[in-house]
Amino acid sequence: MFAVDHAATALLLKRRYPSLPMVPLLLAVQAMELAWVVFNYLGVERTTTERVVRSVADIHLESMPYSHSVATALGAALIAWAIIELGMGRRELGRAVALGIASHLVLDLLTHAHDIVLWPGGVSPRLGLGLYDSAPLAAFVVELLYGVICWRLYRGGRGLLAFVVLGNLANLSLLSASIPGPEAFLAGRPLMVVSLIAVQIVVTLVLTGMLARRPTLAQPGPLVTPLPEMNPAANA
Ligand SMILES: [Zn+2]
Repeated sequence: MFAVDHAATALLLKRRYPSLPMVPLLLAVQAMELAWVVFNYLGVERTTTERVVRSVADIHLESMPYSHSVATALGAALIAWAIIELGMGRRELGRAVALGIASHLVLDLLTHAHDIVLWPGGVSPRLGLGLYDSAPLAAFVVELLYGVICWRLYRGGRGLLAFVVLGNLANLSLLSASIPGPEAFLAGRPLMVVSLIAVQIVVTLVLTGMLARRPTLAQPGPLVTPLPEMNPAANA
């Protein structure tokens, strides 16, 4: 799933746990992707592209057994929960962070090509419903709907809705081979793909956090200006 919609998951967590700060929720929902960026830069995981890139189907997440396997995702969620809830005594935060990490796996399974293994070293099965490969426009509809549903359940403002919709529309050319777009420049440049996604992650997390802020209610002032106190001495 694209960055804007992963970020939207933090809205669901904030709605469920309104007293928690937004930052750890935002980081949790993108923890797997942030790990993917680092591992690609380090050469531990690998991304490739076709000679011509016309859509996301021409970009292959060839190897990502650590950032995006079922075992590492669920393991990371469990460890985060144990440290935060059992170790630090932060019950709600522990649950929210664990849910956030696991949500990323579930959403990627919905849209990805068959590129998610069960554990590091596992070769098959490679999981993913395959929408990016076989029906990228269906993936676009699913992602847009998901983002809007998150916004609706959060009861966000119009600015947040505009961001969710525009953030999804910005990916439209990547999800349709017949719509030309800047993805053509990604051919043969897998690290540029990684960098582009890294920028998307940061921008969408920051903007989601900012636009999700509730307006603080101003303290109501007095409706009537009180009369100045009578000074008996002045009338004497
Ligand atoms: Zn991912």
